[in-house]
Amino acid sequence: MSQSNLLITTSIILALWAVIIILWERMAPYRKGLPLFREGFWVDLVWYTIIQSFVMKIVIFDYIILPIQHHFDWSQWQGISRWPLWLQVSFFFVTHDLYIYLFHRFQHSNKYFWRIHEAHHSGKEVDFLSGSRSHVLEILINQTVEFGPIILLGASPEVVPIKALIDSMYGMFIHANINVRMGKWKYIFNSPELHLWHHANYREVFHANFATKLSVWDYLFGTVYFPESKPGNDNEHWGLYYDYPKDYFLQHAFSLKRFEEKALLKYKWFRKYYNLRPAILQYISGKRKRTFGKSMFLKRKGETAEIVADTASEASGS
Ligand SMILES: [Zn+2]
Ligand SMILES: [Zn+2]
Repeated sequence: MSQSNLLITTSIILALWAVIIILWERMAPYRKGLPLFREGFWVDLVWYTIIQSFVMKIVIFDYIILPIQHHFDWSQWQGISRWPLWLQVSFFFVTHDLYIYLFHRFQHSNKYFWRIHEAHHSGKEVDFLSGSRSHVLEILINQTVEFGPIILLGASPEVVPIKALIDSMYGMFIHANINVRMGKWKYIFNSPELHLWHHANYREVFHANFATKLSVWDYLFGTVYFPESKPGNDNEHWGLYYDYPKDYFLQHAFSLKRFEEKALLKYKWFRKYYNLRPAILQYISGKRKRTFGKSMFLKRKGETAEIVADTASEASGS
């Protein structure tokens, strides 16, 4: 399969997977009453999933990995491309998963690196899209470490899109608001029943359940938290225990300097910026309302015309 066909195929699989997960969340919710368009949905979709991912893909591949590849001779390592594709994918899957476990655990214990991880924990309503919310520097580090070795060690070109597809599918799965029981598989593979606890606002779990895809690391290193109960339905049981900005840029600014989002409203320029998004949303919904109102009026006008016509025909005796 050519590289472009592979990209189309992985994109279609990912879109279908998103539909399946959304339906699954409706049919078997872990936490009841969570709407699809929950708080922060548009920030996660537009800023984190679409814009940030697109920009970071260019930065990581074209401005970090490619220049490194041009400067160093890695040819002695190129033997990896002779491995079967499944072995290459499995090798990078396991090694990167161990790295991400260790780095994630480190981020929870280091106050500076926590600043680039707290965004991921900031959502009070966790669902399939919540995995996309990661600080731009966290993405830069993790994806460079993930895709750099694949390219520099000369793996087959198929490995990158396959690995990226697995990441996205698995990221959606572990954050999805679905009630799944993994049985004995939970000792190997991570799932919402373990990872949703990692997003809960409880002290007991703040240093637990660090796994991304393989929960085996948590079991091996003794960092599993898996009680019989669930975190609870209220927003106070989820996310961070302190206030966190809702805006994408303010979330990044907050990692550099602590501030109170509402306190900035005393500045005129900030009020203008802060009110821009609700104003746009209000304009769109207002326009929709106006269109809806207009169609209702036309419908009523049509009904009136029909009644008038009926009355007229009755009066004429036809
Ligand atoms: Zn975490
Ligand atoms: Zn997460």
